[in-house]
Amino acid sequence: MKYNITVLPGDGIGPEITAQAVGVIKEIGRLRGHEFILREALMGGCAIDATGSPLPDETLSICKASDAVLLGAVGGHKWDNLPGDRRPEAGLLGIRAGLGLYANLRPAVIYPALRDASPLRADIVAEGVDILVVRELTGGIYFGQRGRRVTDGLEAAYDTEQYNTAEVERIARTAFEAAMKRRKKLTSVDKANVLESSRLWRETVTKLASQYPQVELSHMYVDNAAMQLIRDPMQFDVIVTSNMFGDILSDEASMITGSIGMLQSASLGSGKLGLYEPIHGSAPDIAGKDIANPIAAILSVAMMFRYSLGLETEAKMVEEAVEAVLNSGYRTVDISSKGTTTVGTVRMGQLITEALKT
Ligand code: NAD
Repeated sequence: MKYNITVLPGDGIGPEITAQAVGVIKEIGRLRGHEFILREALMGGCAIDATGSPLPDETLSICKASDAVLLGAVGGHKWDNLPGDRRPEAGLLGIRAGLGLYANLRPAVIYPALRDASPLRADIVAEGVDILVVRELTGGIYFGQRGRRVTDGLEAAYDTEQYNTAEVERIARTAFEAAMKRRKKLTSVDKANVLESSRLWRETVTKLASQYPQVELSHMYVDNAAMQLIRDPMQFDVIVTSNMFGDILSDEASMITGSIGMLQSASLGSGKLGLYEPIHGSAPDIAGKDIANPIAAILSVAMMFRYSLGLETEAKMVEEAVEAVLNSGYRTVDISSKGTTTVGTVRMGQLITEALKT
């Protein structure tokens, strides 16, 4: 099969880590007989330097014409003083909107070999953690009506949470589909005991569940979910929730893994095209030193195989290679601990590429 992949290396450590991810893509192509057509484009600070825009029209067109987009990271001190809409990060919002991406998928995985990195007690994460948070990305209170007014003689401000059934149904469908590819457990998180928008959310998710009889659906209030993630994270498989609740819970879930350089994400829309990127930024403090952890970028490739290209076997190959290298005791400096072998960005990429097995 032939696949078109756009690579946006970006700024800071972006080019270093995406180079390792590209190495993995090429090796998978060789091992599995796929033709991956890789095309690089500019986004972020490097695009501002070259064209004046963080997301040039040409980049967006190339992305739209591809099967998947792999992004490194954007941003850096050099561009910090530009106005908001011309900063590298504006490119991120632009590309999500431009590609119609409304679902953000963030796995939080604790590998048994990295259990010590978790701030949670060893017995709580004894068997590892593998959660996927599916967050609605383009609706809810972050996009609702807001404003200021004077009430009772006092200055007041308001923000509005609003979801319609179509918005809830499409994100819930993404979550049910993701659960079907995993352990088939879905927890929908809301605040239906208080919020009308949450009651509509819950009704809509419940209705859709009849189309996914294999998935075990449960509902949880957001305050309880925040607590349960710490008390017993192993109970969760897929969590689906609104934009604001997902913003908070996905950060909480990623923190329980303890290692930002290990966490990947996907942003999906109604078609197959998706944007895959590490959750970390461009880490200018360590750029160019061959010490950045490339694993989040490499695991983003696994998500790309799974969600945009329908290559589940290849996705598992990448995940298993990462786990095998960690089990062999190799670590980049951010996740190193006593008794492990510290390696640089390039070497870690090579080790994972060599560990890929059909
Ligand atoms: P950051 O995620 O870049 O770095 C936070 C800390 O984590 C730093 O100490 C960094 O060295 C470390 N770190 C991050 N990724 C790592 C990796 N792969 N391996 C080892 N260590 C790693 O966040 P920041 O410092 O707040 O932001 C730096 C720049 O990145 C800013 O310009 C910010 O706007 C931008 N940013 C971009 C994205 C994105 O492109 N999606 C996301 C967040 C921040």
